[in-house]
Amino acid sequence: MDEIKIQIKERSSKVVIPENPGFGQYFTDHLFEMDYKPGKGWHNFAIKPVEDLAMHPATMFFHYGQAAFEGLKAFKTVNGEVVVFRPDKHFMRLNNSSRRLCMPEVDVDFALEALAKLVKIEKDWIPEKDGEALYIRPFIFGTDPALGVKPSKEYKFIILLSPVGAYYPEGFKPVKILVSDKYVRAIRDGLGECKTPANYAASLLATEIAKEQGFTQVLWLDAVEKKNIEEVGTMNIYIRFKDEIVTPKLTGGILPGITRMTVLEILKEWGMNPQERVVSIDEFIEKYDKGEVISVFGTGTAAIISTVGIMKYKERVMEINGGVSDDLSLKLFDTITSIHRGKTADTHNWLLRVK
Ligand SMILES: *Cc1c(COP(=O)(O)O)cnc(C)c1O
Repeated sequence: MDEIKIQIKERSSKVVIPENPGFGQYFTDHLFEMDYKPGKGWHNFAIKPVEDLAMHPATMFFHYGQAAFEGLKAFKTVNGEVVVFRPDKHFMRLNNSSRRLCMPEVDVDFALEALAKLVKIEKDWIPEKDGEALYIRPFIFGTDPALGVKPSKEYKFIILLSPVGAYYPEGFKPVKILVSDKYVRAIRDGLGECKTPANYAASLLATEIAKEQGFTQVLWLDAVEKKNIEEVGTMNIYIRFKDEIVTPKLTGGILPGITRMTVLEILKEWGMNPQERVVSIDEFIEKYDKGEVISVFGTGTAAIISTVGIMKYKERVMEINGGVSDDLSLKLFDTITSIHRGKTADTHNWLLRVK
């Protein structure tokens, strides 16, 4: 494979990370980019300054949405090391999304190498306080400048980096969620398993309606029967019943979260016997009424763990665990974030060390 061309921007001064970077508002100086063409495969490997892209207005993905993305994080550990959390799993998932969307896959080892080179160059952009991170956004999209519905022949792959603040600057806070009984996010056998822009476009209206009513997120039911619990916002969901901890089974409408997978592995180690099965909203309400719902929490790269304090379905408003975070959510949050920051040994080999 060709070498990655590295073009470094002259920095007029030292990198200054904003005090409260929030999420996705600031970007580092450089990105990784490569192009795909039939016959040639991936080529033009480059790390170069972030600049606007110039594209023909007919560029395919603008019109037909052929694109996929990932979201993962790099951290600076308490020992000053730079680590990325489970990047192999993220690139494998990107390839799953790409296959469903008729886009070319990337070589996972090469993508990891490119990512490590880029993160190393941008390491001064990684914030160091607890909860802060360098958010990594790899994405791929069809670039043919032509109209007509068919797969693009050419593609671009980019890795963009953004320093982000702590998700809970004021401490771990439960969220209020509205169960969407009208709009759905994604469907099994459709694009439910893909991290692709279409699913986020589909989620906006219900989320805006929820926000107008004072909720933070939407809980999505399955798109076929609007009966089974699937996800919450852009997070997977776990429900702790009195004698069982459950996360909805990946039936095709659910995004297979890496944090979901991480939590499953941790719970198994703790001997909690987590179950992956279908959970209906009716089962949830029935158990809630019997006092058998102990807690509900979401899992995802952005928040890691997010406890649900209030859940509303149709006219029912259900307060969960008195509206406060339970011990298990907190323990999971501490366990995962301690691994991120190198405070706990990475016994699972979840971290890619950038040297
Ligand atoms: C990204 C995402 C998740 C969480 O996945 P992680 O790999 O844990 O970050 C869950 N649901 C949806 C819809 C998502 O887009």
